[in-house]
Amino acid sequence: MVPVVWRSEPPALDRVPETVLPFACGRSYGDSCLNDGGALLDVAGLDRLIAFDSDQGILRCEPGVTLAQVLALIVPRGWFLPVLPGTRWVSVGGAIANDIHGKNHHRAGTFGAHVTRLELMRSSGERLLCSPSENSALFRATVGGLGLTGLILWAELRLKRIPGSGIAMQSVRFPDLNGFFDLAATDADHEYTVAWVDCLAGGRRLGRGIYMRGDHTSLAGDAPSPLREARLRMPFDAPPGLLNRLTLRAFNQLYYRRQLRRQVDSVVPYPPFFFPLDGLADWTRLYGPQGFLQYQCVVPDEPGGGPIRAVLDRVSRSGETASLAVLKRFGDAPSAGMLSFPRPGLTLAVDFGFRGHRTLELLEDLDGIVRQAGGAVYPAKDARMSAASFRRFFPEHEAFSRLVDPKFSSSFWRRVHQP
Ligand SMILES: Cc1cc2nc3c(=O)[nH]c(=O)nc-3n(C[C@H](O)[C@H](O)[C@H](O)COP(=O)(O)OP(=O)(O)OC[C@H]3O[C@@H](n4cnc5c(N)ncnc54)[C@H](O)[C@@H]3O)c2cc1C
Repeated sequence: MVPVVWRSEPPALDRVPETVLPFACGRSYGDSCLNDGGALLDVAGLDRLIAFDSDQGILRCEPGVTLAQVLALIVPRGWFLPVLPGTRWVSVGGAIANDIHGKNHHRAGTFGAHVTRLELMRSSGERLLCSPSENSALFRATVGGLGLTGLILWAELRLKRIPGSGIAMQSVRFPDLNGFFDLAATDADHEYTVAWVDCLAGGRRLGRGIYMRGDHTSLAGDAPSPLREARLRMPFDAPPGLLNRLTLRAFNQLYYRRQLRRQVDSVVPYPPFFFPLDGLADWTRLYGPQGFLQYQCVVPDEPGGGPIRAVLDRVSRSGETASLAVLKRFGDAPSAGMLSFPRPGLTLAVDFGFRGHRTLELLEDLDGIVRQAGGAVYPAKDARMSAASFRRFFPEHEAFSRLVDPKFSSSFWRRVHQP
């Protein structure tokens, strides 16, 4: 690891013998934040807030600042991040480099759409201001650029106003995929929408789940500090086989039935609404020593569900341990980056306990459905997509590869960028 501590005195990258890749919080699931055989630039020390205009809602900060740090500063002042992922332990640099999306994609688009400008250092030592109007090609390559275009030294974000730190939330149970489509038809009425789906249910229950929608509201009292660590921690690796189809089926059934009424309304502080998994530190150990793979795809939204129905059907019949699944309809806003994953359609994210070649074969099959439908798989969650799939999923890959810094590389990039 090469530490990067001062943005005024970054390391001379041409003196590092190997290829380099920025590394922030390591919350990407796959190998896009890894550089096997090369060096990682540890940006955790670049964690300073630089300037905050609390009238205009413009924040400038270093890239190692976490979203938790930003929320701790801005929420008490009536501002909020325009896009949030499912964990707050993600850096601003990482959020830009994966052009992350959240539960409000249908209204706000991706994180990159709210980045007004950033400073990028190339391995030559050259420092460039990039924005939608200045060095715009490099800006479009860096947003969603998987850390391959250079090192972001600082970024400026446009925030949004909120009435308070609460979320008025509704959870609505739906019996099948058509039930999801009926509820998602009202997406535009709410700021945040997402559904949990029982991936093990097949047949007439295929796609059943719980749809959650929420809007900002005031809260009686303060929301818990986003900087507070989880009270619960998974203290050891779960024994192999603990999460099997039987235990997951029982869990899913309980979760699906947990609310007696079809719809439950509540007001909750914003952290548990956005970051349910942050409540249990080291939750990944639940999968045992074999670990897990997350798979996230987006496919066009066809009448009757076409490709998403095919994906869910293949998963439910697979015999694999598919646990958490999240389904959401993306909006039409164009993504800011050349390699941004979000595009109009339905996105599904599923965790699979890793069972070797059987799991890999299933995911390859799913890639086939996604390729045929004209969709994409999310690089931030990937450790195995083929070079051929990558080229199909990201049509701007050639223009992007011309803007990659020659000194920068990653395990993901070497896998997918083959002649
Ligand atoms: C529980 C959980 C929930 C999640 N939910 C979502 C979600 O809802 N939506 C979503 O889109 N993603 C989600 N993610 C994925 C996560 O948001 C992304 O992987 C994010 O990019 C991780 O940021 P990081 O700070 O951990 O960066 P890392 O994983 O360390 O790095 C990510 C990328 O950013 C690059 N990078 C980091 N810093 C810099 C820099 N200074 N300059 C240039 N490049 C840089 C790295 O090279 C790498 O390519 C989730 C992840 C978890 C664990």
